Amino acid sequence: MNEELWDVINHLGEERERWLGAVAPPIFQSSMFAYPTVDALREAVAKEMDVPFYTRGHNPTVRLLAIKLAALEGAEEALVFSSGSAAMAAAILAFLRSGDHLLCVEKPYGWTAVLVREMLPRFGISAEFLDMRDPAAVAAAIRPNTRMIVLESPNSWTFEQQDLKAIAALARPRGILTVCDNSYATPLLQRPLALGIDLVVHTLTKYLNGHSDALAGAVCGSRKLIERIFRGPYMSFGAVLSPHDAFLIIRGLRTLPLRLERSASNAEKVAHFLAQHPKVRALWRAATGERSPGGQLEGGNGLITIALNGGAAAAERFCNALRRFLLTCSWGGYESLAWPLAALYPKGYEGPLPKGLSLDMVRLSIGLEPAERLIADLEQALAAA
Ligand SMILES: *Cc1c(COP(=O)(O)O)cnc(C)c1O
Repeated sequence: MNEELWDVINHLGEERERWLGAVAPPIFQSSMFAYPTVDALREAVAKEMDVPFYTRGHNPTVRLLAIKLAALEGAEEALVFSSGSAAMAAAILAFLRSGDHLLCVEKPYGWTAVLVREMLPRFGISAEFLDMRDPAAVAAAIRPNTRMIVLESPNSWTFEQQDLKAIAALARPRGILTVCDNSYATPLLQRPLALGIDLVVHTLTKYLNGHSDALAGAVCGSRKLIERIFRGPYMSFGAVLSPHDAFLIIRGLRTLPLRLERSASNAEKVAHFLAQHPKVRALWRAATGERSPGGQLEGGNGLITIALNGGAAAAERFCNALRRFLLTCSWGGYESLAWPLAALYPKGYEGPLPKGLSLDMVRLSIGLEPAERLIADLEQALAAA
Protein backbone atom coordinates (compact mmCIF):
# COMPACT_ATOMS: atom_id res chain seq x y z
CA MET A 1 0.00 0.00 0.00
CA ASN A 2 2.61 2.51 1.07
CA GLU A 3 4.35 2.88 -2.27
CA GLU A 4 0.99 3.04 -4.07
CA LEU A 5 -0.54 5.49 -1.62
CA TRP A 6 0.70 8.62 -3.36
CA ASP A 7 -0.24 7.28 -6.80
CA VAL A 8 -3.82 6.85 -5.56
CA ILE A 9 -3.96 10.24 -3.86
CA ASN A 10 -2.22 12.22 -6.61
CA HIS A 11 -3.12 10.44 -9.84
CA LEU A 12 -5.59 7.55 -9.78
CA GLY A 13 -8.78 8.28 -11.72
CA GLU A 14 -7.68 11.72 -12.90
CA GLU A 15 -8.32 11.73 -16.62
CA ARG A 16 -6.01 14.67 -17.19
CA GLU A 17 -5.55 14.00 -20.88
CA ARG A 18 -9.31 14.42 -21.33
CA TRP A 19 -9.46 17.40 -18.96
CA LEU A 20 -7.14 19.80 -20.86
CA GLY A 21 -4.27 18.71 -18.61
CA ALA A 22 -5.99 20.18 -15.54
CA VAL A 23 -3.89 19.29 -12.49
CA ALA A 24 -6.82 19.80 -10.11
CA PRO A 25 -9.92 18.01 -11.43
CA PRO A 26 -12.78 19.97 -13.00
CA ILE A 27 -16.01 20.30 -11.03
CA PHE A 28 -18.66 18.82 -13.31
CA GLN A 29 -21.47 21.09 -12.23
CA SER A 30 -24.15 19.48 -14.36
CA SER A 31 -27.17 17.56 -13.17
CA MET A 32 -27.40 15.47 -16.34
CA PHE A 33 -25.35 14.41 -19.36
CA ALA A 34 -26.82 14.22 -22.87
CA TYR A 35 -26.25 11.59 -25.56
CA PRO A 36 -26.52 11.92 -29.35
CA THR A 37 -28.83 8.97 -30.08
CA VAL A 38 -31.52 6.90 -28.40
CA ASP A 39 -29.24 3.87 -28.55
CA ALA A 40 -26.47 5.75 -26.74
CA LEU A 41 -29.00 6.98 -24.19
CA ARG A 42 -30.32 3.46 -23.63
CA GLU A 43 -26.80 2.21 -23.01
CA ALA A 44 -26.11 5.02 -20.51
CA VAL A 45 -29.33 4.28 -18.59
CA ALA A 46 -28.40 0.61 -18.39
CA LYS A 47 -24.97 1.49 -16.96
CA GLU A 48 -26.14 4.28 -14.70
CA MET A 49 -23.62 3.53 -11.94
CA ASP A 50 -20.63 3.59 -14.28
CA VAL A 51 -21.24 6.37 -16.78
CA PRO A 52 -22.35 9.99 -16.48
CA PHE A 53 -26.08 10.19 -17.17
CA TYR A 54 -27.87 11.69 -14.16
CA THR A 55 -25.74 13.17 -11.37
CA ARG A 56 -27.59 11.36 -8.59
CA GLY A 57 -26.25 8.11 -10.04
CA HIS A 58 -22.89 9.18 -11.45
CA ASN A 59 -21.02 12.45 -11.64
CA PRO A 60 -17.39 12.48 -12.84
CA THR A 61 -16.12 14.61 -9.94
CA VAL A 62 -17.94 12.50 -7.35
CA ARG A 63 -16.84 9.33 -9.13
CA LEU A 64 -13.19 10.41 -8.96
CA LEU A 65 -13.47 10.58 -5.17
CA ALA A 66 -15.15 7.14 -5.03
CA ILE A 67 -12.39 5.57 -7.18
CA LYS A 68 -9.70 6.90 -4.85
CA LEU A 69 -11.50 5.75 -1.70
CA ALA A 70 -12.09 2.26 -3.11
CA ALA A 71 -8.39 1.95 -3.94
CA LEU A 72 -7.32 3.19 -0.50
CA GLU A 73 -9.56 0.61 1.19
CA GLY A 74 -8.55 -2.18 -1.22
CA ALA A 75 -12.20 -2.42 -2.34
CA GLU A 76 -13.64 -3.23 -5.76
CA GLU A 77 -16.11 -0.37 -5.49
CA ALA A 78 -17.21 2.59 -3.41
CA LEU A 79 -20.15 4.95 -3.25
CA VAL A 80 -19.96 8.46 -1.87
CA PHE A 81 -22.79 10.02 0.18
CA SER A 82 -23.72 13.45 1.48
CA SER A 83 -22.68 12.49 5.03
CA GLY A 84 -21.20 9.62 6.99
CA SER A 85 -24.59 9.04 8.58
CA ALA A 86 -26.23 8.67 5.15
CA ALA A 87 -23.54 6.14 4.23
CA MET A 88 -24.12 4.08 7.38
CA ALA A 89 -27.91 4.16 6.96
CA ALA A 90 -27.61 3.01 3.33
CA ALA A 91 -25.20 0.18 4.20
CA ILE A 92 -27.62 -1.11 6.84
CA LEU A 93 -30.95 -0.57 5.09
CA ALA A 94 -29.88 -2.07 1.74
CA PHE A 95 -29.63 -5.54 3.24
CA LEU A 96 -32.15 -5.90 6.06
CA ARG A 97 -35.84 -6.67 6.09
CA SER A 98 -38.59 -7.15 8.65
CA GLY A 99 -37.83 -10.13 10.92
CA ASP A 100 -34.04 -9.75 10.70
CA HIS A 101 -31.81 -9.26 13.71
CA LEU A 102 -28.76 -6.99 13.89
CA LEU A 103 -25.89 -6.88 16.36
CA CYS A 104 -24.24 -3.50 16.92
CA VAL A 105 -21.14 -2.64 18.88
CA GLU A 106 -21.73 -0.75 22.13
CA LYS A 107 -21.35 3.04 22.11
CA PRO A 108 -21.08 3.60 18.36
CA TYR A 109 -21.34 7.08 16.84
CA GLY A 110 -24.47 8.71 18.30
CA TRP A 111 -26.64 8.77 15.17
CA THR A 112 -25.68 5.19 14.30
CA ALA A 113 -27.03 4.33 17.75
CA VAL A 114 -30.30 6.18 17.08
CA LEU A 115 -30.76 4.41 13.74
CA VAL A 116 -30.20 1.01 15.35
CA ARG A 117 -32.09 1.61 18.60
CA GLU A 118 -35.04 3.69 17.42
CA MET A 119 -35.55 3.46 13.67
CA LEU A 120 -34.83 -0.17 12.76
CA PRO A 121 -37.37 -1.59 15.25
CA ARG A 122 -40.07 0.49 13.55
CA PHE A 123 -39.46 -1.60 10.43
CA GLY A 124 -39.52 -4.92 12.27
CA ILE A 125 -35.75 -5.28 12.53
CA SER A 126 -34.62 -6.20 16.03
CA ALA A 127 -31.29 -4.85 17.18
CA GLU A 128 -29.00 -5.35 20.12
CA PHE A 129 -25.94 -3.46 21.39
CA LEU A 130 -23.08 -5.59 22.60
CA ASP A 131 -19.64 -5.19 24.14
CA MET A 132 -17.65 -6.82 21.33
CA ARG A 133 -14.15 -6.70 22.80
CA ASP A 134 -14.35 -10.48 23.15
CA PRO A 135 -15.33 -12.26 19.90
CA ALA A 136 -16.77 -15.11 22.00
CA ALA A 137 -19.47 -12.70 23.23
CA VAL A 138 -20.36 -12.00 19.60
CA ALA A 139 -20.56 -15.72 18.79
CA ALA A 140 -22.85 -16.24 21.78
CA ALA A 141 -25.20 -13.42 20.73
CA ILE A 142 -25.75 -14.64 17.16
CA ARG A 143 -29.32 -15.83 16.58
CA PRO A 144 -30.74 -17.82 13.65
CA ASN A 145 -32.13 -14.58 12.17
CA THR A 146 -28.99 -12.44 12.70
CA ARG A 147 -28.22 -10.90 9.30
CA MET A 148 -25.70 -8.16 10.09
CA ILE A 149 -23.02 -7.11 12.56
CA VAL A 150 -22.24 -3.40 12.78
CA LEU A 151 -18.75 -2.57 14.07
CA GLU A 152 -16.92 0.64 14.85
CA SER A 153 -13.31 0.05 15.75
CA PRO A 154 -12.09 1.99 17.62
CA ASN A 155 -15.47 3.26 18.77
CA SER A 156 -16.45 6.79 19.78
CA TRP A 157 -15.34 8.33 23.13
CA THR A 158 -13.50 5.37 24.70
CA PHE A 159 -11.88 3.85 21.58
CA GLU A 160 -12.67 0.22 22.34
CA GLN A 161 -11.70 -2.18 19.57
CA GLN A 162 -13.22 -5.28 18.09
CA ASP A 163 -11.12 -8.09 16.65
CA LEU A 164 -12.21 -7.56 13.04
CA LYS A 165 -10.61 -10.71 11.65
CA ALA A 166 -12.11 -12.95 14.35
CA ILE A 167 -15.59 -11.43 14.02
CA ALA A 168 -15.50 -11.63 10.20
CA ALA A 169 -14.52 -15.30 10.51
CA LEU A 170 -17.54 -15.92 12.73
CA ALA A 171 -19.95 -14.06 10.47
CA ARG A 172 -18.97 -15.16 6.93
CA PRO A 173 -19.76 -18.88 7.19
CA ARG A 174 -23.16 -18.03 8.72
CA GLY A 175 -24.04 -15.63 5.89
CA ILE A 176 -24.00 -12.63 8.23
CA LEU A 177 -22.82 -9.36 6.68
CA THR A 178 -20.24 -7.34 8.58
CA VAL A 179 -20.13 -3.54 8.33
CA CYS A 180 -17.28 -1.59 9.94
CA ASP A 181 -17.15 2.16 10.53
CA ASN A 182 -13.46 2.81 9.86
CA SER A 183 -13.54 6.56 10.38
CA TYR A 184 -11.17 6.63 13.35
CA ALA A 185 -8.37 4.85 11.49
CA THR A 186 -8.91 6.11 7.95
CA PRO A 187 -7.79 3.63 5.25
CA LEU A 188 -4.19 4.54 6.09
CA LEU A 189 -4.13 2.88 9.52
CA GLN A 190 -6.59 -0.02 9.23
CA ARG A 191 -8.03 -1.97 6.30
CA PRO A 192 -11.02 -4.01 7.45
CA LEU A 193 -11.77 -5.55 4.03
CA ALA A 194 -8.39 -7.29 4.04
CA LEU A 195 -9.41 -8.83 7.39
CA GLY A 196 -12.62 -10.27 5.92
CA ILE A 197 -15.10 -7.50 6.74
CA ASP A 198 -17.75 -7.07 3.99
CA LEU A 199 -18.41 -3.33 3.98
CA VAL A 200 -16.43 -0.35 5.25
CA VAL A 201 -18.22 2.89 6.10
CA HIS A 202 -16.51 6.27 6.46
CA THR A 203 -17.44 9.72 7.43
CA LEU A 204 -15.28 11.82 5.11
CA THR A 205 -16.18 14.85 7.23
CA LYS A 206 -13.39 14.08 9.70
CA TYR A 207 -9.78 13.25 8.67
CA LEU A 208 -10.39 12.45 5.01
CA ASN A 209 -11.51 15.99 4.32
CA GLY A 210 -9.73 17.48 7.30
CA HIS A 211 -10.66 21.13 6.71
CA SER A 212 -13.98 21.40 8.57
CA ASP A 213 -15.76 22.79 5.52
CA ALA A 214 -17.80 19.89 4.07
CA LEU A 215 -19.80 16.82 5.11
CA ALA A 216 -19.53 13.53 3.22
CA GLY A 217 -19.51 9.79 3.70
CA ALA A 218 -18.65 6.60 1.81
CA VAL A 219 -19.27 2.87 1.69
CA CYS A 220 -16.59 0.56 0.22
CA GLY A 221 -16.91 -3.13 -0.62
CA SER A 222 -17.34 -5.71 -3.35
CA ARG A 223 -18.96 -4.77 -6.65
CA LYS A 224 -21.87 -7.09 -5.83
CA LEU A 225 -22.68 -5.51 -2.46
CA ILE A 226 -22.13 -1.95 -3.66
CA GLU A 227 -24.50 -2.55 -6.60
CA ARG A 228 -27.17 -3.64 -4.11
CA ILE A 229 -26.70 -0.36 -2.24
CA PHE A 230 -26.71 1.61 -5.51
CA ARG A 231 -29.97 0.05 -6.74
CA GLY A 232 -31.55 0.56 -3.30
CA PRO A 233 -30.93 3.38 -0.83
CA TYR A 234 -28.28 5.21 -2.87
CA MET A 235 -30.61 5.96 -5.77
CA SER A 236 -33.96 5.93 -4.00
CA PHE A 237 -33.04 7.95 -0.87
CA GLY A 238 -30.73 10.11 -2.97
CA ALA A 239 -28.40 11.30 -0.18
CA VAL A 240 -25.60 11.87 -2.70
CA LEU A 241 -22.68 14.29 -2.59
CA SER A 242 -22.59 17.46 -4.67
CA PRO A 243 -19.72 17.79 -7.19
CA HIS A 244 -18.51 20.91 -5.35
CA ASP A 245 -18.19 19.05 -2.07
CA ALA A 246 -16.55 16.09 -3.82
CA PHE A 247 -13.95 18.52 -5.12
CA LEU A 248 -13.30 19.76 -1.57
CA ILE A 249 -12.91 16.24 -0.20
CA ILE A 250 -10.50 15.32 -3.03
CA ARG A 251 -8.49 18.42 -2.15
CA GLY A 252 -8.44 17.47 1.53
CA LEU A 253 -7.40 13.92 0.67
CA ARG A 254 -4.23 15.20 -1.05
CA THR A 255 -2.67 15.94 2.35
CA LEU A 256 -4.27 13.20 4.47
CA PRO A 257 -1.04 11.29 5.23
CA LEU A 258 0.74 14.46 6.37
CA ARG A 259 -2.17 15.70 8.48
CA LEU A 260 -2.81 12.37 10.11
CA GLU A 261 0.84 11.94 11.00
CA ARG A 262 1.07 15.43 12.48
CA SER A 263 -2.19 15.08 14.46
CA ALA A 264 -1.04 11.75 15.85
CA SER A 265 2.43 12.93 16.84
CA ASN A 266 0.93 16.07 18.44
CA ALA A 267 -1.60 13.93 20.29
CA GLU A 268 1.21 11.73 21.57
CA LYS A 269 2.86 14.76 23.18
CA VAL A 270 -0.40 16.16 24.52
CA ALA A 271 -1.42 12.77 25.97
CA HIS A 272 1.96 12.48 27.68
CA PHE A 273 1.39 15.86 29.35
CA LEU A 274 -2.22 15.10 30.33
CA ALA A 275 -1.52 11.60 31.69
CA GLN A 276 0.69 12.96 34.47
CA HIS A 277 -1.50 15.97 35.36
CA PRO A 278 -3.12 15.69 38.83
CA LYS A 279 -6.46 17.10 37.61
CA VAL A 280 -6.82 14.36 34.98
CA ARG A 281 -8.63 11.37 36.51
CA ALA A 282 -8.48 9.12 33.44
CA LEU A 283 -7.32 9.24 29.83
CA TRP A 284 -8.38 7.13 26.83
CA ARG A 285 -6.39 6.54 23.63
CA ALA A 286 -6.78 3.68 21.15
CA ALA A 287 -4.30 0.82 21.60
CA THR A 288 -2.18 0.60 18.45
CA GLY A 289 0.27 -1.75 16.79
CA GLU A 290 0.73 -5.07 18.53
CA ARG A 291 -1.43 -3.90 21.45
CA SER A 292 -4.50 -3.71 19.14
CA PRO A 293 -6.42 -6.94 18.33
CA GLY A 294 -4.29 -8.94 15.90
CA GLY A 295 -2.22 -5.80 15.32
CA GLN A 296 -5.10 -4.48 13.17
CA LEU A 297 -4.68 -0.76 14.01
CA GLU A 298 -1.34 0.46 12.70
CA GLY A 299 -1.27 3.83 14.42
CA GLY A 300 -3.18 6.44 16.36
CA ASN A 301 -4.96 9.62 15.34
CA GLY A 302 -5.43 12.93 17.15
CA LEU A 303 -8.27 11.88 19.46
CA ILE A 304 -7.82 11.80 23.23
CA THR A 305 -10.61 11.53 25.80
CA ILE A 306 -9.99 12.69 29.35
CA ALA A 307 -12.05 12.69 32.54
CA LEU A 308 -11.34 15.32 35.17
CA ASN A 309 -11.19 15.17 38.92
CA GLY A 310 -13.97 17.38 40.25
CA GLY A 311 -16.79 15.98 38.12
CA ALA A 312 -18.94 17.66 35.51
CA ALA A 313 -18.44 21.12 37.04
CA ALA A 314 -14.66 20.87 36.72
CA ALA A 315 -14.98 19.65 33.13
CA GLU A 316 -17.18 22.64 32.38
CA ARG A 317 -14.74 25.13 33.97
CA PHE A 318 -11.88 23.52 32.04
CA CYS A 319 -13.72 23.83 28.70
CA ASN A 320 -14.79 27.41 29.35
CA ALA A 321 -11.18 28.38 30.11
CA LEU A 322 -9.70 26.97 26.85
CA ARG A 323 -8.46 29.64 24.44
CA ARG A 324 -6.87 27.77 21.54
CA PHE A 325 -9.23 24.77 21.45
CA LEU A 326 -12.60 25.49 19.89
CA LEU A 327 -15.58 24.13 21.81
CA THR A 328 -17.60 22.04 19.37
CA CYS A 329 -18.34 18.55 18.09
CA SER A 330 -16.62 16.67 15.26
CA TRP A 331 -12.91 15.93 14.94
CA GLY A 332 -10.15 15.26 12.43
CA GLY A 333 -9.73 18.84 11.17
CA TYR A 334 -6.67 21.08 11.04
CA GLU A 335 -7.77 22.83 14.24
CA SER A 336 -7.88 21.57 17.81
CA LEU A 337 -11.28 21.00 19.41
CA ALA A 338 -12.73 20.15 22.80
CA TRP A 339 -16.09 18.40 23.08
CA PRO A 340 -17.53 17.92 26.57
CA LEU A 341 -19.89 14.97 26.94
CA ALA A 342 -22.03 17.17 29.20
CA ALA A 343 -22.98 19.28 26.17
CA LEU A 344 -25.16 16.35 25.02
CA TYR A 345 -27.29 16.50 28.20
CA PRO A 346 -29.37 19.18 29.98
CA LYS A 347 -27.49 21.21 32.60
CA GLY A 348 -27.37 19.37 35.93
CA TYR A 349 -28.41 16.05 34.30
CA GLU A 350 -28.21 13.12 36.72
CA GLY A 351 -29.96 10.38 34.76
CA PRO A 352 -28.45 7.26 33.24
CA LEU A 353 -25.56 7.34 30.76
CA PRO A 354 -24.25 4.66 28.40
CA LYS A 355 -22.01 2.23 30.30
CA GLY A 356 -18.49 3.60 30.75
CA LEU A 357 -19.37 7.24 30.06
CA SER A 358 -19.48 10.03 32.66
CA LEU A 359 -20.21 13.75 32.57
CA ASP A 360 -16.65 14.70 33.55
CA MET A 361 -15.42 13.45 30.15
CA VAL A 362 -14.07 15.74 27.44
CA ARG A 363 -12.95 14.53 24.03
CA LEU A 364 -10.05 16.44 22.48
CA SER A 365 -9.30 16.43 18.78
CA ILE A 366 -5.69 17.48 18.37
CA GLY A 367 -5.00 19.52 15.24
CA LEU A 368 -1.92 20.65 13.39
CA GLU A 369 -0.74 23.51 15.64
CA PRO A 370 2.59 23.25 17.46
CA ALA A 371 2.09 20.83 20.37
CA GLU A 372 3.69 23.25 22.87
CA ARG A 373 1.05 25.84 22.11
CA LEU A 374 -1.73 23.34 22.77
CA ILE A 375 -0.11 22.05 25.95
CA ALA A 376 0.23 25.60 27.29
CA ASP A 377 -3.48 26.17 26.67
CA LEU A 378 -4.45 22.90 28.36
CA GLU A 379 -2.22 23.74 31.31
CA GLN A 380 -3.86 27.09 31.99
CA ALA A 381 -7.37 25.63 31.48
CA LEU A 382 -6.65 22.74 33.89
CA ALA A 383 -5.44 25.29 36.44
CA ALA A 384 -8.85 26.97 36.12
CA ALA A 385 -10.81 23.68 36.34
C1 LIG B 1 -19.00 11.91 12.65
C2 LIG B 1 -19.09 10.44 12.59
C3 LIG B 1 -20.03 9.81 11.77
C4 LIG B 1 -21.09 10.55 11.00
O1 LIG B 1 -20.54 11.30 9.97
P1 LIG B 1 -21.28 12.61 9.38
O2 LIG B 1 -20.46 12.91 8.18
O3 LIG B 1 -21.21 13.63 10.46
O4 LIG B 1 -22.68 12.21 9.09
C5 LIG B 1 -20.01 8.42 11.70
N1 LIG B 1 -19.13 7.70 12.41
C6 LIG B 1 -18.22 8.28 13.21
C7 LIG B 1 -17.26 7.42 13.96
C8 LIG B 1 -18.18 9.66 13.35
O5 LIG B 1 -17.30 10.23 14.19
